[in-house]
Amino acid sequence: KVMKNSETRHPLVRVKDCVVGGHDVTVIAGPCAVEDEETLWATAVQVKKAGAHILRGGAYKPRTSPYSFQGLGKTGLRILASVGQALGMPVVTEVMDTADIEEVAAYADVLQIGARNMHNYGLLKRLGKVEKPVILKRGLSATIEEWLMAAEYVVSGGNDQVILCERGIRTYEPWTRNTLDLSAVALVKTLTHLPVIVDPSHATGKADLVGPMARAAVAAGADGLMIEVHIDPSKALSDGEQSLTPGQFAQLMQDIRALTSIR
Ligand code: PEP
Ligand code: MN
Repeated sequence: KVMKNSETRHPLVRVKDCVVGGHDVTVIAGPCAVEDEETLWATAVQVKKAGAHILRGGAYKPRTSPYSFQGLGKTGLRILASVGQALGMPVVTEVMDTADIEEVAAYADVLQIGARNMHNYGLLKRLGKVEKPVILKRGLSATIEEWLMAAEYVVSGGNDQVILCERGIRTYEPWTRNTLDLSAVALVKTLTHLPVIVDPSHATGKADLVGPMARAAVAAGADGLMIEVHIDPSKALSDGEQSLTPGQFAQLMQDIRALTSIR
């Protein structure tokens, strides 16, 4: 069950050697998409050096336009897994289609359900049968209740390794890509034992806002962060405007360390 219950002890989410939802803030970082082996490697080396725990990279990309870069698919999965393995980092990538679950699970340590698929109950049901942790992003316009019930689909199916990810919701405000709902983080942590992480990259759509919102997320009690980083954001095939350079990411990690050491 997703909802807190005083009578039962709840398991933490384990991603290889990483414990998500324990004492430490877990940091997931990497490019929006796997573009090719060289750029992923260059970015991954830097995020690892800065202290990231888990490497991200999309292979199946849910793009607004069908004419935008759709990701490398299986080739992207292979590249992500081999870079992660070489650096000793667990990897997370999105699965968009029920038919791809087995393939994605063969390469990824964590399966991500993107915001656009949070209401895909067929996909959620199948993830209940997968023996891999799942990051469940909040839907574009999902209420907290809908988000928690989506998690319930996975947990009730038999997979209690679910990490919730707040990634901003749709509001009337166009200056930011989405509106980061930090009150949801604090609230959800009172309702569920599941770890809650924050993605300030997709929440804001602006690299300059990622650091401040990451710090705010940790202050609000987030168990982790998901940050888009690209070796050269101006050349990124997707989400360059919100991607940090490795230097900016290293600074963010220092800022987060300063915050958590006094927690
Ligand atoms: C992503 O993290 O790659 C992504 C597409 O994010 P979201 O589903 O939150 O839009
Ligand atoms: Mn992205």
